[in-house]
Amino acid sequence: MSDQNPFHIAQQQFDTAADLLGLHPNIRAVLRVPQRELTVNFPVKLDDGSTRMFTGYRVQHNLARGPVKGGIRYHPDVDLDEVRALAMWMTWKCALVNIPYGGAKGGVIVDPKQLSMGELERLTRRFATEISVLLGPERDIPAPDVGTNAQVMAWIMDTISMHRGYTVPAVITGKPINIGGSLGRVEATGRGVSLMVREVARHLGRDLAGLRVVVQGFGNVGSTAAALLAQMGCQVVGVADATSAYSCPAGLDLDALRTSSDRQTVGLLEGYSAPGCAHITGPALLELDCDVLIPAALGNQITEHNAGRIKAQFIVEGANGPTTPDADRILAERGVLVVPDILANAGGVIVSYFEWVQGLQEFFWDERDVNDKLERIIVGAFAQVWTLAQARQVPLRIAAYLLAVQRVADANITRGVYP
Ligand code: NAD
Repeated sequence: MSDQNPFHIAQQQFDTAADLLGLHPNIRAVLRVPQRELTVNFPVKLDDGSTRMFTGYRVQHNLARGPVKGGIRYHPDVDLDEVRALAMWMTWKCALVNIPYGGAKGGVIVDPKQLSMGELERLTRRFATEISVLLGPERDIPAPDVGTNAQVMAWIMDTISMHRGYTVPAVITGKPINIGGSLGRVEATGRGVSLMVREVARHLGRDLAGLRVVVQGFGNVGSTAAALLAQMGCQVVGVADATSAYSCPAGLDLDALRTSSDRQTVGLLEGYSAPGCAHITGPALLELDCDVLIPAALGNQITEHNAGRIKAQFIVEGANGPTTPDADRILAERGVLVVPDILANAGGVIVSYFEWVQGLQEFFWDERDVNDKLERIIVGAFAQVWTLAQARQVPLRIAAYLLAVQRVADANITRGVYP
């Protein structure tokens, strides 16, 4: 089995781009590792009166293009190498869509579903305090990721504001609307994914109507992408979350399933039954007969073991790191197009950027404005990646990396080495 350590994978992807760009060894050495890493071990009082220790991380990969940006993940499998990889991918993602941020990521080793609301709040407030030495609107701005949601962001915003003695809305994005969140932020990542499906279909001369889509992961990203694609006329023929997977060859009734903006609905698919839908295994979902596969759960889902059996014509990566480099090679040989994570799921960070700008200016936009600006940026980035991929005859991931890594390298070189 090949190396599935996410940070090694992120470094391999970077090395491929650095080789093709002919990056100087000095700048290569800078970009290959995170700039700052903080590990925190901290106690949380549980409801039964006991105290439990938790471990969390905040990693800032590169600060050359601006303050760093990246989500906070609550999951039992979080580890430092995963957070490093996710932070590096954030650097490339922000550069690719040309927003003025570097990349960061955070995480706590915890299963949030095992905690009461009170425990989750105490864990969040203590973790926010532990990493507060790094945070600030002009320094490091977290956002939601797997296992966290708008409420968790509200607790982080409130905690930092209490420390400062005044309200600091721009220290975090993905907040509830009533405390400075942006309209359109909850749906932004899924909306970006759906726009990428539309763009690929357009470039391949495929009609969106009737395009058969399979979605793995039915949280914020997966459920929104599925709903928007259904609105565009696509047919969702398979869905899965951590609890269950379904094949629905005649199409799934999403209205019955659609999650609201409340991301506590993880696990919604458990026990679902509908005529024409069959219960299948999670791995089988990825190999269903379909036109588009959208991995929108966790990393390392498409590997050398199943890439040869994927039937989709193209894959749009809602999740971060769902495809290993070995799988990428197999898919490329088989002519399966992959819209890479750093482009496909960039809608979230783009609208997070809008939320941050609105918070700093204390001037809020309507939802159409947000969605229009999101579409312009992500479709523009897609066009650049597509054109470069055609010109260099490389997969979309490599083209995306060539653009992103060059921008970050240029920023570092222009600023120079301090002191
Ligand atoms: P979420 O917690 O809202 O949902 C995750 C979903 O994945 C849930 O439905 C969960 O049940 C499901 N899942 C977990 N393990 C699974 C498995 N083995 N098989 C099938 N489903 C499984 O998280 P999210 O915010 O939707 O994030 C999903 C992915 O998208 C992550 O990789 C995240 O890093 C990435 N992402 C999220 C955002 C964002 O704005 N939320 C932005 C960019 C990228």
